[in-house]
Amino acid sequence: MRPEILNPFYSSISNLKGIGSRYFTLVSNLCGGSNVFDLLAHLPYNIIDRRYTCPIKDIETGKIWTGIVRIDKHLEPKSKKQPYQVICTDVSGEIVLNFFKYYKDSLKKQLPVGSLKTISGKTEWFNGHLQMSHPDYISEPSNFNRLNTLEPVYPLTNGVTNKMMLSLSAQALEKIPDFAEWLDSSFVNKNHFPTFKQALLAAHRPQKLEDLSPHSPMRTRLSYDELLSNQLALSIARSKHKKRAGRSIHGSGFLRQKLIQNLGFDLTEAQERVLSEIYQDQEAPFQALRLIQGDVGCGKTVVAMLAMLNAVECGYQTCLMAPTEILAKQHMETLSAWAEKLDIKVELLTGKIKGKKRSEILERLALGQIDILIGTHALFTEDVRFKDLAFIVVDEQHRFGVKQRLELAAKAFKPDIIVMTATPIPRTLVLTRFGDMNYSKIDELPKNRKPSDTRVIPLNKLPEVIKALQRQIALGAQAYWVCPLVDESEKSDLAAAIERFESLKKFFGQQVGLVHGQMKEKEKDAVMEQFHKGEIKILVATTVIEVGVNVKQASIMIIERAERFGLSQLHQLRGRIKRAEHNSTCLLIYGYPLSAVAKERLQIMKNSEDGFLIAEKDLELRGGGEVLGTKQSGFELFKFANLEFHKDLLYTAHKDAEMILSLDPNLRSKRGEALRILLYLFKQDDALRTYLAG
Ligand code: ADP
Ligand code: MG
Repeated sequence: MRPEILNPFYSSISNLKGIGSRYFTLVSNLCGGSNVFDLLAHLPYNIIDRRYTCPIKDIETGKIWTGIVRIDKHLEPKSKKQPYQVICTDVSGEIVLNFFKYYKDSLKKQLPVGSLKTISGKTEWFNGHLQMSHPDYISEPSNFNRLNTLEPVYPLTNGVTNKMMLSLSAQALEKIPDFAEWLDSSFVNKNHFPTFKQALLAAHRPQKLEDLSPHSPMRTRLSYDELLSNQLALSIARSKHKKRAGRSIHGSGFLRQKLIQNLGFDLTEAQERVLSEIYQDQEAPFQALRLIQGDVGCGKTVVAMLAMLNAVECGYQTCLMAPTEILAKQHMETLSAWAEKLDIKVELLTGKIKGKKRSEILERLALGQIDILIGTHALFTEDVRFKDLAFIVVDEQHRFGVKQRLELAAKAFKPDIIVMTATPIPRTLVLTRFGDMNYSKIDELPKNRKPSDTRVIPLNKLPEVIKALQRQIALGAQAYWVCPLVDESEKSDLAAAIERFESLKKFFGQQVGLVHGQMKEKEKDAVMEQFHKGEIKILVATTVIEVGVNVKQASIMIIERAERFGLSQLHQLRGRIKRAEHNSTCLLIYGYPLSAVAKERLQIMKNSEDGFLIAEKDLELRGGGEVLGTKQSGFELFKFANLEFHKDLLYTAHKDAEMILSLDPNLRSKRGEALRILLYLFKQDDALRTYLAG
C-alpha cells in the first residue's frame, strides 16, 4: 500500500485552484502526468529578473522594470496601425503603455484613470518617450513585492501561460510533506545537498542562473533521489531473483566436448569466459537471469548452444527464443546442423507452423522428445508445454522490459534464463534498464575477421555506385541494398523499396530480388532461398529485420539514406557482411541536406568498427531511445535525471543501492523505511510488491 504521507503528491492537479477541465488536459500533457508530483517534476528552465525598480525618470532603456504607476490617460489610436496607449506617471516622470492587440473595454476596466497599478515588463525609448509594450504584469499595488522578484520560467505549451504555471506550482509547493531523510547523512553533507523538500522548493524558485544547471545542488539532489530509486528497485529484483530456488544444472560435458571438437574453430577467450560465467549461474541452485552482450559476429550462437547442451546433458529441455521468424529459422539451420552429430533433437516452432505439424511438435515436446525448441518470442504467450524446461535463451531481445522478464521468470519449472543482445548497450543503459540482471560481455571478435571497407557517398553519385556494383557482380559478388526509412509508416518505406527495386532491375534484370515486411512468409522464404543459392545477386530490402539473415557469400552492403538510420542499426547491418572468408564493402549513401550531426555520425561509422564505441557515440548524439530502437529508453525514464549530465550520479546510486541492500536486504531499518517511501514516490513499487511484500 502506498504510504499515506504521499497522498498529497498523488492527488490530482484538478484539485488545484484555477485549473478548469481545459487546462487540466493541457497541463497534464505538458507535465506528462496529472498528479501533483508530475507537476512538481516540471521544472523551470529560465528566470526573468523583475527585481529592477527605480523612479521612472531613472529607468535604463531595455530593462525589465517593475514599479507602481498612476493611470493618467487613455489615448485611442487614430488608425489601425497605431497602438492603443495608456499614459502612466509617478512623481518623477511618465511611461506609455502600448497595446497593439487589445479590447478597448477591458483595458478601460483594467486600467481605470486615476488608479494605481503595479506593472512589470520590458521598457524602451521610442520617439522621445519611455514605453512598455504589452506589460507582462498589470496588478494591484499590493502585489508589488510579489512581482518585484525573480520569476521562474517554465517550459510551456500553447494555451498554458507562465502565470498559470507559477500559480499551479506555488500551490503544489505548499503540499510537499516533510519526509524522513532517505540518503546517508555523510553523503548529504559531503555533497551539500538540501533535503528533498528544500530541493524541490529551490528548484522551482531559482535565485540565479546557476540554479537551473543540472549540476546545481538542488537538481543534483533530485536527480540522485530518482536514480537511487531506480537502482534500488532493480537491485532488489536482482538480489531477490538470485535467491529464488532454481535447478542446479551441471552436465557431464560429453555433448559439449563433441561439439567443440567438430566446430572447426577455437572459442575465443571472451567466449570461454562468458561460458564459464553462464555455467556457474546454471550450477547454482537458484534461478539465473543474465544478460549477454556481444557485438555482431562475436559468436553468441555457439555460446548459447553450449549453454543449452549443458542442460541437455542433464536430461533437461531448453528453448531458444528469436525476435523474428527469419532469425528463428536461421538458428534452426545452424543448430540442427550441429545437433545432427550429437544425436539430440532440435525443433522449430513458430506462429506459422499450424495444424497437424504443430500438434505433433507439441506432443513430442510434452513427452520430452525434443531437447532444444527454437521459436519466436510469441512462444511465451502461447500455451506451449514442456516436459521439463530448465533453461531459456532469449536472443536479441533488448526490447523486452523488466516487467516481461519478471513474467517470464515466473513461469513454471523455474528456468535459468540468459538474454543475448547484439546491440551494444552503453553502461548507463545497462544499469538503468537491465540492472535486474547479471551481466556478461563477449568483448572480442574471432581473430580472423577482416574489417569492412566503409565509404560515405552522396546520393548524386548513385550512377557511379551502380557501375561499380555491376563490376563486382560480374566478378561474382552478392549485395544487400537496404532502402531508406522514409518515416514511421511502412507503406511509404515499401513504396521507396519497390521504386528502387524497379530501377535496379533496369541495370541488373533478374538478378535483383525484393523482400519486404508485407510479403507472405512463403514468398519471403523463396526470395531468401534464391539469394542464398546465388540466383539473385542483389537483395533489396525494406527494413532492418528483413536483413537479419546471414548469407555467407554476400560481401556488399549498400544502405540508402544512411543518415536516417541509427548508428547501431548501421553497425548491425554492416556486421552481416563481415566474414573471415572475404573482404567486405559497406556503402553509406546519404541525401541532402545533411546536418552537421548527421555528417559526424556517418564519419563515426567510417572510422570505427567497435560496436560499443559506436553505441556510446550514438547515445551522445541522439539519446537512448534511438540506441535501443524504442522510444521508452532508460533516458526518458527519468523526470529529473538526465544521463547526459548525471552518469556519475548513476554509478554512485548503483553502488549505494548495493550497499543499502547488503546491510538491510528487506528495507526494515529506519533508513530502509524512508527508502520505501522513496520507491513509492518514484513509482518503483513493482519491485517492492514482488519481492518485499509484507
Ligand atoms: P552473433 O554473435 O552475431 O550472433 P554468430 O554466433 O552468428 O554471431 O557468429 C558469427 C560467425 O562466427 C558464425 O559463422 C560462427 O560460426 C563464427 N564463429 C563463432 N565463434 C567463432 C570463433 N571463436 N572463431 C571463429 N569463428 C567463430
Ligand atoms: Mg546472433
